[in-house]
Amino acid sequence: MIVVHELAHLKESDHNKAFYRLCELMQPGYHQIEFDLRLYLTRRDLIKTSSV
Ligand SMILES: [Zn+2]
Repeated sequence: MIVVHELAHLKESDHNKAFYRLCELMQPGYHQIEFDLRLYLTRRDLIKTSSV
């Protein structure tokens, strides 16, 4: 998913509609995967900051 994200940046530098359309083209269900990853990262960051 990160590879797809980076590949899409070769064509689109911004996170705009065309960018996400490219991501979806290369990896169907990209939106859901990125959403899940963001959720995971957010939760991990919360755990990290709360343990300090
Ligand atoms: Zn990006």
